[in-house]
Amino acid sequence: MQLNDKVALITGAASGIGKEIAIAFAREGAKVCIADLALDAATATAHEINASGVSGKAIAVAMNVTDEAQVDAGVAQTITQFGGIDILVSNAGIQVISPIVDFKFEDWKRMLAIHLDGAFLTTRACMRAMIKAGQGGTILYMGSVHSHEASPLKAPYVAAKHGLIGLAKVVAKEGAKDHIRANVICPGFVRTPLVDKQIPEQAKTLGITEADVIKNVMLRETVDGEFTTVQDVANTAVFLAAFPTNALTGQSITVSHGWHMQ
Ligand code: NAD
Repeated sequence: MQLNDKVALITGAASGIGKEIAIAFAREGAKVCIADLALDAATATAHEINASGVSGKAIAVAMNVTDEAQVDAGVAQTITQFGGIDILVSNAGIQVISPIVDFKFEDWKRMLAIHLDGAFLTTRACMRAMIKAGQGGTILYMGSVHSHEASPLKAPYVAAKHGLIGLAKVVAKEGAKDHIRANVICPGFVRTPLVDKQIPEQAKTLGITEADVIKNVMLRETVDGEFTTVQDVANTAVFLAAFPTNALTGQSITVSHGWHMQ
């Protein structure tokens, strides 16, 4: 077991990629905090993990990652219940698509708040706790191929996902002396609610069929026309979370069936 007794806080872990990471971490022995806006779904995920017979365990915490007080309180609750914090996965995210000329300013600000303010606030709270405890730690950001590439209709998403790479590099430099590492996982398209919602929206905006969105927009640049899976991303998260030294910090790892090659 690669994460035995480690404590991990995962944002947006009530659904999709975050949920699968929580399951994989608990399977590896970690105590996981499912931090999500959707408390009912977070609680259900925690119950699912606790009932599954894995050696790790889970709690649910209500957290809007854009709310400073809720983030600080959720991190404090995790430390109270589990005794510390070793791993942060800053994963919560949404998607809003539109051409720039039609993009509402409030949607731009909401996207940047969830993806970047959320990453900053959770990082700050966890780094403070990690430094105080003196045991080091690992911070993972859920980037995207859009941390490296651009697509039409996704201006704030692409800007925010590029921004996470900058944040991870600063955390890597500031955190090194306290053995805190930071890395970014950059998945290609994964079939989660976030992507399922986008398929009809893109079809309508681009004036093409949903099958064409999948084949000619989402998977066109992959080497094999395949979606990345939640398990692919969770396996990468386990690898990075368990990696023991600062040799692997300030990096981004792309998991995308070759859509983006670094
Ligand atoms: P999802 O919609 O399945 O899950 C997102 C979760 O985040 C939900 O449980 C939601 O309640 C939560 N959330 C939303 N806003 C929140 C907030 N303000 N505070 C706390 N929680 C909040 O989506 P997903 O596909 O699993 O996406 C997870 C992350 O992976 C996102 O950052 C997304 O950008 C990134 N990502 C997804 C894909 C993909 O193809 N699905 C690809 C690359 C990167």
